[in-house]
Amino acid sequence: MKIALIAHDNKKQDLVLFAKAYQTILGKHELFATGTTGQKIMESTNLSIHCYQSGPLGGDQQIGARIANNEMDMVLFFRDPLTAQPHEPDILALIRLCDVYKIPVATNMGTAEILIHGLENGNFQWRDIVRSK
Ligand code: PGA
Repeated sequence: MKIALIAHDNKKQDLVLFAKAYQTILGKHELFATGTTGQKIMESTNLSIHCYQSGPLGGDQQIGARIANNEMDMVLFFRDPLTAQPHEPDILALIRLCDVYKIPVATNMGTAEILIHGLENGNFQWRDIVRSK
């Protein structure tokens, strides 16, 4: 599975801890991230991550493009709901594309926990079928 990891600044530490806790599961998959998030996770784990541009510089849109090409299977996006983001339109566009393409997307750690357990249990194999069409 191709998994995108994104966290706003106030949530980056949470996502780093999450990635450390679930490193064994995440390590079995192909990982992508916005620039700063990906760097921080790689500094704290042994995970290998393809890093796009930083979010405010277009990273969210790059991940959105992968979704539109049917090339992303899950998005874990730890949003900060309490801070205005300069790239809010890009964030909304990314989440919208997840809905357009029915891509599982978690916008907080609670949902991310459920998705990661589902991933471990093989609950997302329908994505292989969708992707092969
Ligand atoms: P960053 O981007 O990982 O480069 O900080 C995330 C975002 O703010 O969308």
